Amino acid sequence: MKHAYANHYAEGRFLPSRGTARMPVVDPSTGVEAGHVASCSTEDVERAIGSARSGFQAWSRSTLDERREALGRLHAQLSARADEATRLLAQEIGCPVWLGGLMQLPMPLKGLELAIEAIGQIDWEERVGNGVVERVPSGVLAAITPWNFPLHQIVAKVAAAIAAGCTVVLKPSEVAPGAAMVFAEAAHAAGLPAGVFNLVWGGPDVGEQLVRHPGVDRISFTGSTHVGRRIMAAAAEGPKPVTLELGGKSAAVLLEDADLDAALPAVLRMSMANSGQACVCQSRLIAPRRLVPEIRRRLQDGLDHWPVGSPLDPATRLGPVATKAQFERVQAMIRRAVAQGGDLVFGGASPDSEARAGFFVQPTLVDGVTPAMELAQEEVFGPVLALMPYDDERQAIEMANATRYGLSGAVWSGDADRARAAARQMKTGQVVINGAPQNLATPFGGWGWSGFGRENGRFGIEELLNYRALHGA
Ligand code: NAD
Repeated sequence: MKHAYANHYAEGRFLPSRGTARMPVVDPSTGVEAGHVASCSTEDVERAIGSARSGFQAWSRSTLDERREALGRLHAQLSARADEATRLLAQEIGCPVWLGGLMQLPMPLKGLELAIEAIGQIDWEERVGNGVVERVPSGVLAAITPWNFPLHQIVAKVAAAIAAGCTVVLKPSEVAPGAAMVFAEAAHAAGLPAGVFNLVWGGPDVGEQLVRHPGVDRISFTGSTHVGRRIMAAAAEGPKPVTLELGGKSAAVLLEDADLDAALPAVLRMSMANSGQACVCQSRLIAPRRLVPEIRRRLQDGLDHWPVGSPLDPATRLGPVATKAQFERVQAMIRRAVAQGGDLVFGGASPDSEARAGFFVQPTLVDGVTPAMELAQEEVFGPVLALMPYDDERQAIEMANATRYGLSGAVWSGDADRARAAARQMKTGQVVINGAPQNLATPFGGWGWSGFGRENGRFGIEELLNYRALHGA
């Protein structure tokens, strides 16, 4: 049955969307249209912003306990919908249910728990000499999100806003509407006060209307660097502050003494999970030249046992990429990597660039990648790992830093001090040392082309607060 997303959410209720555009939702496993989203009209968006503005009057004065309770109810409602969200992510973006259960759902739920905790970690009021410095909600937030980890990206913005006393108009990606609808239904069932959370549907036009609208006070955007630039330019008219969480070209740096048994499976997971469609995907493996033959052999073996198939099958580790455009882009990048001298070790582009039955890209490993090559510089957003041999540690760090992006990275070494010293030289917002578990309470965000501003925990809430200094208070 085709799924129609016909309603948006404003004033605490679901309302029919009255735009003229009908955006198809395509099942990437088959390439067949599985539903559609009715976009919002200009008036619908106007009404949602009005809803957020009037909601702000009350929510900005809510107590910290009221915010904690609202987030707690949202957590309960979202948990109850976890299975539905996992299934929709498989059908709409091709994310294997394995990863849905491992990350796509646990991350937003943890994000909500951390936002609740973080409310108590913020200095809402601080005495400075004869003054009091208050931290106050900054207003109506326009949250614009992508499709790859859609529920996590929505929660990162909306939970921080609720905790900060702000209200939100969310414009999620038109590619993955199911996750956003599950979130809206959870927010409704959680009984959030009318106007605190609002959802509009649409593409770039609706996004731009939000960014330029005087009723919107600040923007939080996650998506491509290209669109991030456009959003920043449009926001400059306000001027209004923007948070940009953009693309990445993250490197895993393997030092000579790294434990290959631990490192290589972790690098494979971080490069292939979600078909490489993660902003923090470790798409470059920088490895000692001496170890490259062994590393190639082990990675090849790992990829050979990396099951590709239907995202609804619990055994599948690699589903299709999310869209036809993504499929064609990844195929073209693999071909150019080989044309530029890359040594194709595993996988590769399909014999023709047409997606026959679904947008499946083979897991791919290219060796001999040098910093000048496109594969070392441009985000692929596909299951493609570039192996970059180095001769000494200084060169390894130089290679890791030789991109305009700076979102994430990893360092592996048998010596914890040596690993930390290398990590401290990485020009990037986060570095994972020896496969440490993800810590969602730390600030998340990028340097350079990966954007600016921070999300998660206390840091994500502080991003949405303004200072007010009361002299003589
Ligand atoms: P995208 O930039 O194409 O779109 C993101 C969102 O912006 C969508 O909701 C889209 O409709 C909207 N949009 C597009 N043009 C707009 C405009 N002119 N004005 C306002 N809104 C507009 O990105 P995508 O293809 O959905 O996602 C993939 C990209 O997101 C990758 O580059 C990836 O690295 C990046 N990403 C970054 C992070 C991070 O936290 N740093 C996380 C996930 C994904």
